[in-house]
Amino acid sequence: MPTPDHDALRERYRIERDKRIRPDGNDQYLQPTGRYAHLLDDPYTTPDERDPVRVDVDVAIIGGGFAGLCVGARLRERGVQDLRIIEGGGDVGGAWYWNRYPGAMCDTAAMIYLPLLEETGYLPSAKYVPAPEIFAHARRIAETFDLYRDALLSTQVRSLNWDDDASRWIVTTDRGDEIRARFVTMGTGPLHRPKLPGIPGIETFDGHAFHTSRWDYDYTGGDAAGAPMTGLADKRVGIIGTGATAVQAIPHLATSAAELHVFQRTPSSVDVRANRTFGPDDFAELGPGWQREWLINFATLQTGGFTDVDLVKDGWTDISQRIRDRIVDMMAVPGTELTPELMQQAYEDSDDEKMEEIRARIDSIVADPATADALKPWYRQLCKRPCFHDEYLQAFNEPGVRLIDTDGRGVSAIDATGVWVDDDHYELDCLIFASGFEVGTDQARRSGFETTGRDGVTLTDAWAEGMVSLHGMHVRGFPNLFITGLAQGANLVSNITHNLTEAGSTAAAVIGHALDTGAEQVEVTEAAQDAWMQLLDGNPRSFMGNAECTPGYYNNEGGPIGRTQRRGMSGYPDGPVAFFDHIDRWRRSGEFAGLEFS
Ligand code: NDP
Repeated sequence: MPTPDHDALRERYRIERDKRIRPDGNDQYLQPTGRYAHLLDDPYTTPDERDPVRVDVDVAIIGGGFAGLCVGARLRERGVQDLRIIEGGGDVGGAWYWNRYPGAMCDTAAMIYLPLLEETGYLPSAKYVPAPEIFAHARRIAETFDLYRDALLSTQVRSLNWDDDASRWIVTTDRGDEIRARFVTMGTGPLHRPKLPGIPGIETFDGHAFHTSRWDYDYTGGDAAGAPMTGLADKRVGIIGTGATAVQAIPHLATSAAELHVFQRTPSSVDVRANRTFGPDDFAELGPGWQREWLINFATLQTGGFTDVDLVKDGWTDISQRIRDRIVDMMAVPGTELTPELMQQAYEDSDDEKMEEIRARIDSIVADPATADALKPWYRQLCKRPCFHDEYLQAFNEPGVRLIDTDGRGVSAIDATGVWVDDDHYELDCLIFASGFEVGTDQARRSGFETTGRDGVTLTDAWAEGMVSLHGMHVRGFPNLFITGLAQGANLVSNITHNLTEAGSTAAAVIGHALDTGAEQVEVTEAAQDAWMQLLDGNPRSFMGNAECTPGYYNNEGGPIGRTQRRGMSGYPDGPVAFFDHIDRWRRSGEFAGLEFS
């Protein structure tokens, strides 16, 4: 492939980005209300009638996704018996409970994505596994560690208030419960609450409509395991959005619907997936401790480090490997010094090469040249969530499928019978919103409840100028509260669950220590929190905030990126692997530096 003209590419990227910049930024999205209020409901489980629960517990775990399950597992390993998961969905699983759309799967390799494989004795069926297998694994963790015991499912937390005199958190729920907890862990997920595009007239659509995270199989037919969606055989279907979710759902819609209209604002970059099923040979060399070794191997390679072998070998590590190999080649020229400029050059060249390949792949698969052209992404690979799929591009060769490219402007309007793009109207029976989840809105809005700490200060107030914490977990003024996520810790975006297993171990170690020593309160000191924030604020490698990128949730939708926005997506300056090492030593020391136990 010829070497791309770097400057011409950057100019094209700039032009495409500028088309997409909107003054309303992240405010362009709507919370589901009115006609769409039901999109926050649970279509999969009818909750059992039960009396309100009024109990004291050692640990309340808010959220039964992988964050909550990992904390629960680690607490059980430490012998903590008195704990309760509180979860809005009808089962554990979090994102994998809600996302049952056809084709849903994780394109982080299952050997590293599925948490606690050694602890549960499970080995995945394939390199990348489908959503039902991931959901089943979440259930397996809950069963293995007896986390269904006392769990409050189909239960939404409504408020979380700290009672300083009693040293207890009071958790209230939509089922009238009042749980008094010594410790609370909060794993409410970064991509949790569905959002809708703020398109004029969206309320007026008279046909059938749903969001991808609440797939309506009663209407479409089929199921999450991939049975054909026979209900769509005579339907004109529209899907708004072409992000990671849509890329997976579209191939299934393409073969089920009578007509499929794909409304695109920005194309995704879709690289090769090359999935394959696993057999016994794939596991022959796994010894005790293998999963930790694989996790560190992947995290090292994906973030630009060096290892002897690439255990996972996939699209996530490919770009880093290319950068690394380029640097090695450049350094082979005598007298060359390893400078930041040289590393930047290696990164830019590798990125150009990768994106040229991704665009060339489209031409080689999509038959109609105009459609192929419109599907080409014009930005750097990590500006948006990279996608990996081997049937998405082929879907546009299906006779009933039409790509409606809006040239960066988005859908113009919606009316009772369909969708407008400029002067063209598309009549639809069914409209599917693949429009993603709230990111960057305040914590209370995303989790659905407010957290009020010491002296009546809310988490929203404490984070008015951006998230503050030690390790992304401990917040001054919120004793005995443990946030289990990725921001301000490792912030390893390519393998979310790796952050969560580590967070689980950390929370369990601190809670276990407090229980063992009879400490009533655990709180980060002001000095430790300030020092951590100083370290993070000075981090030039913040993942978020590349203003040159096409707008998306990685860069505040192209809006201004100040300290507030950066803080919500910042991570340890030396990178995820260094953070995992740091936090492991911090836990093992038993001193828990920066925390006060009283
Ligand atoms: P995204 O937020 O990534 O995508 C939303 C889509 O809706 C974008 O294509 C966006 O366009 C489009 N859109 C929004 N408003 C309009 C409008 N007015 N007109 C037309 N189009 C519009 O949500 P997803 O659910 O796809 O993915 C969310 C995240 O979940 C991913 O980034 C990933 O982290 C995770 N995920 C991972 C998967 C995996 O492992 N394979 C699978 C699915 C999700 P634009 O790009 O222009 O903003």
